[in-house]
Amino acid sequence: MSSEAFFDIAFLWYQHSYAVYEQKGVEIMELHITCIPGDGIGPEIVAEAKKVLVKIASVYGHKMVFEDILMGGASIDAYGVPLTDEAVAKAKAADAVLMGSIGGDTTTSPWYKLPPNLRPEAGLLGIRKALNLFANLRPAVLYDELAGACPLKEEISGQGFDLLIMRELTGGLYFGERKTIEENGVLKAIDTLTYDENEIRRIAVKGFDIARKRRGKVTSVDKANVLDSSRLWRKVVEEVAKDYPEVTLEHMLVDNCAMQLVKDPAQFDVILTENMFGDILSDEASMVTGSIGMLASASLNDSKFGLYEPSHGSAPDIAGKDIANPIATVLSAAMMLRYSFDLDREADAVEAAVKQVLKEGFRTGDIMSEGCKRVGCSEMGDLLVSRINRL
Ligand code: NAD
Repeated sequence: MSSEAFFDIAFLWYQHSYAVYEQKGVEIMELHITCIPGDGIGPEIVAEAKKVLVKIASVYGHKMVFEDILMGGASIDAYGVPLTDEAVAKAKAADAVLMGSIGGDTTTSPWYKLPPNLRPEAGLLGIRKALNLFANLRPAVLYDELAGACPLKEEISGQGFDLLIMRELTGGLYFGERKTIEENGVLKAIDTLTYDENEIRRIAVKGFDIARKRRGKVTSVDKANVLDSSRLWRKVVEEVAKDYPEVTLEHMLVDNCAMQLVKDPAQFDVILTENMFGDILSDEASMVTGSIGMLASASLNDSKFGLYEPSHGSAPDIAGKDIANPIATVLSAAMMLRYSFDLDREADAVEAAVKQVLKEGFRTGDIMSEGCKRVGCSEMGDLLVSRINRL
């Protein structure tokens, strides 16, 4: 079915359900979601995630209003810049933002002949800054049905894992003062790692809040045996932990954490860490799932507002072929329901539909294995929609 026909039918069904729920006096949420389809496979995968959200709205009686904005290459083509002030204003006015991905082929696309501040990625950095998104969440889940894609030994992957990396996104080494100087004819480069207690406290609060919604364990990762910034990190995290007696806190050094992620990933629930450690550990955690098309992510600010996007890029090599895996974007939409709207049952319903479709053996090309049924991007979206039930 074409996306247009789907949205027409879904809208009529949704209007009917909305009226019924209103009559029954069930709490109805009206949610305004700004969508950034972006570039490459972005528009294809966002269309499927919207289908899933429309179905959730009709099943649970919510009202969802979508508005698209341009960012990245699509915005460069239309306006000459990767992000306009108008697009930022629309994103700020929404309750949450759902994004596909931005960027093109970095060797052939004309976007990469532009100065760095006009390239697609500048749009992403710009919107993160404008929306003050300081907390990055990257879940790494190994589904039983995809355990074969996990590069770890079977005795480890057999236990499965479901962890989430909570990474500080706007401070630390990547944002500290830096310079390169010459001293006595020798070049010297200096990068500065700075965190103040407020920056640490706000990310720690997010980490504990989210652990409370999960299995109630925080592993705070630092290098407190060497770095002052890590010692302050540990002190503030311990202070925050006092407000969450139901959450267990443990500390782990970053080098040990890197080893534990491949030795025993099942031990982790929420890994809370600073910017650079989180950058490295979240990529490591993604790789141990083995399935790039399945990995969701979210970036949150001080309120419940967030930008939700798959962890992968715009995959220009498969764009427009209807073969991309939309599940990472669909799972990002589930995170939006859970973390921005507190709609945990609705998020559970989306995640259950993903598990069901995998259990029935449907796979896009990237996660295909012997004996399974290969489907395209839009068919996968239709399957997910049809497996969503009220829990
Ligand atoms: P990529 O993640 O786009 O692709 C890597 C490989 O994984 C490709 O072979 C691709 O076909 C495959 N792949 C990715 N997502 C898939 C999906 N959903 N289904 C099936 N296969 C999938 O990484 P890349 O090729 O290094 O980057 C391409 C572009 O994306 C670049 O311009 C890069 O800057 C951009 N990018 C954007 C974001 C973002 O928008 N947040 C993140 C990473 C990369």
